[in-house]
Order: sequence, then structure tokens, then C-alpha cells
Amino acid sequence: MKVIQNLVPTSKYNIKCPYPMTPEFIVVHNTANDASARNEVAYMIRNDNKVSFHYAVDDKEIVQGIPENRNAWHAGDGSNGPGNRKGLSIEICYSKSGGQRFIEAEKLAAKFIAFKLKEKGWDTDRVKKHQDFSGKNCPHRTLDMGWQRFLNMVQAELNALKGADKVEDKNTPSSWAKEAWEWAKKEGITDGTRPKDTMTREEMVTMLHRYHKKVFPK
Ligand SMILES: [Zn+2]
Repeated sequence: MKVIQNLVPTSKYNIKCPYPMTPEFIVVHNTANDASARNEVAYMIRNDNKVSFHYAVDDKEIVQGIPENRNAWHAGDGSNGPGNRKGLSIEICYSKSGGQRFIEAEKLAAKFIAFKLKEKGWDTDRVKKHQDFSGKNCPHRTLDMGWQRFLNMVQAELNALKGADKVEDKNTPSSWAKEAWEWAKKEGITDGTRPKDTMTREEMVTMLHRYHKKVFPK
């Protein structure tokens, strides 16, 4: 997925992301604001508050502000809290006024979160809300509209990504068959499609016939 990077300069690591981190889950937020993802990240980087987050997502773009291997200050659970020290934070934009922009931002966030889950081999049980860590009513609009509804959106996107993999698998020969498959393609025995399909008697005879003509040309 396309992610725009506007990473905090290392000179500000002590304020924004002082600790190395190996993320263990995702923490979802709403910005409670009407700024775009670019502006949210630019503002986060510009000020000197101990407030930070890894990604902001609006209706059009995903913008990253903190590298994934650094912590961020977003969960309100203190300097040693699991949210702040192990959570990959994602802010969904335009939650203050809501409307179509927010709907679209949530959709893109669900896609992006599914992409991250697949990348890391995680399931939707790794998707947490800010509220889980500090009790804050965040992601406020996503919660109002239904948390389970949002998790279902993420799950649907994740299923679609996994389904796309299966289609690809079906069009790729197994590793043990790869050499023979490539040979048969090169020799014109098969056109190289549908490696996992079963064959009919006429297909088998056609392949034999092609091979025979190669070995005993007229
Ligand atoms: Zn939050």
C-alpha cells in the first residue's frame, strides 16, 4: 500500500519516540479533529509536546510520522504502559465532524490495518482501541458507530487479501513441479496455464501427441 512518509527528525526522538520498540499490536484512534492526515503528522512533528503516533489516515492518504521500530506517545498509559511501548498507533482523521470524509477515512484505515496484520502474520485480535489502555473515549466516532462493525471491516479486508493469495497460488506451480513445468512450457507441451487443475483424457492425449511430434519429427 502507498504510505507517505514524513518522519520525525532524529533530533526530536527524545521527545516523540525515545524508546526502541517491537510492535505487538495495533492501537486505533480518532483524531477528534478535522485536519487531513498530512496536516496531523506535520503538526505532531512541529510541536514539542510528548504526543505522537505512527500513522494518520484520511479519506485519501496514509501518512507515517514515527518509524515502526520506535515507540510513540498516544495511549495515555504512561511511560511504561503497554499501549505506549508496544502499540503501533493509527489515527483516523476527520472524526470531529464525521460525514463522508470520515466514512472514507475509516474504510482506508480498515484496509491499511488489514495490510499490516497480514504483513506481520497477525489476526484481528491484535487490533486494540485507545480506550483499552486509558479508558479515554477514543476512537470516539468509531466507537459510536460500533467497534465490532469496524473490526468486521478489517476482517473482511484481511479475508480479501488472503483470498487474493489463494488465487495467486492456484496459478503458480508447486516448487517440486517447477522445473518440469518450465520445461513443458518451453517445449510447447503445455501453454503454461492452470497448473493445479486436473486434466481430461483429451488434454492428456494432446500433450502426449505434442511430445511425440518433438521426439519423432517427420
Ligand atoms: Zn486516541
